[in-house]
Amino acid sequence: MRSSRFSPPSLLGAALVGLTLTAACASDPGEAGPAPAPTPAATEPAPTEPPASSSGDPNPNPNPTPAVSCFEDLTKKGVVYEKATARGVADAIVVKGKINDVLFADEMQTKPTPQPMACAFVQTLWQLADVLKGHAIHRVGALGSYCYRCCCAWSETNFCRGPSDPEPSCGSNGYSNHSWGRAVDIRYLFTDDGKTYDVNDPKQWVMSTESTCKVARAKQTGTSKFLYDLACEIAEKKVMSTVLTPNYNDAHRNHFHMDIGTKGAPSGFTVKSDKPALVDEGEHADACGGH
Ligand SMILES: [Zn+2]
Repeated sequence: MRSSRFSPPSLLGAALVGLTLTAACASDPGEAGPAPAPTPAATEPAPTEPPASSSGDPNPNPNPTPAVSCFEDLTKKGVVYEKATARGVADAIVVKGKINDVLFADEMQTKPTPQPMACAFVQTLWQLADVLKGHAIHRVGALGSYCYRCCCAWSETNFCRGPSDPEPSCGSNGYSNHSWGRAVDIRYLFTDDGKTYDVNDPKQWVMSTESTCKVARAKQTGTSKFLYDLACEIAEKKVMSTVLTPNYNDAHRNHFHMDIGTKGAPSGFTVKSDKPALVDEGEHADACGGH
């Protein structure tokens, strides 16, 4: 498989040592839509938008407003978490238990992922859990979520930056949405009857070059239909801004990429589709394909 595996640097201390993430592009078809509007507090001076490349700025965060309401919301919902520090993530937390009765773990593990996520993204995973539970899924295995790097695929020169690394010059590619803790790459889905679905298995997700949620979906049967229906339902319910499946490109062969981020600067606000999320459609196929 093409998708690169890598070990992030010690950017998050011991919590992340030894973890592996999967590089994936964070294509952002939503860029063509309305730009998300930062919402600075009225009494504060408007933050200055940094240049897109932000080269030389070790902390390019235009919207440091703490998402207090998000933290409170999670606490009210019973989500157990700890606040964390992660470059590029204004409202980083590490979740210590299930989210809406669904375990978001790394790969085949049975404990919550120790990777930091934006608080707003955990709220999104709560909604995602509602969809998953509708299919008797109470556990997922992710390949990775957080990695501060340029779009798209991880490489030895496009590695996960730690707090002391120089700001990468991402140029027109921009940053990966994984930089903001607002994306997840899901490979495994575990159903209550003991089945393990593996997106990377070509017999389970049958590849297609036709439109994923229209022509291709209609041709699926069995397990592949289950997986197509799930990806498309997540899009139709507007849980995510972007859903990329193995049909998108080789770099996504082994997972569903889902994100609510943008390729702009990190922030605490939530960006979601007001329309069903685009599935395998975007303007960055060239940049993200790598082939
Ligand atoms: Zn991804």
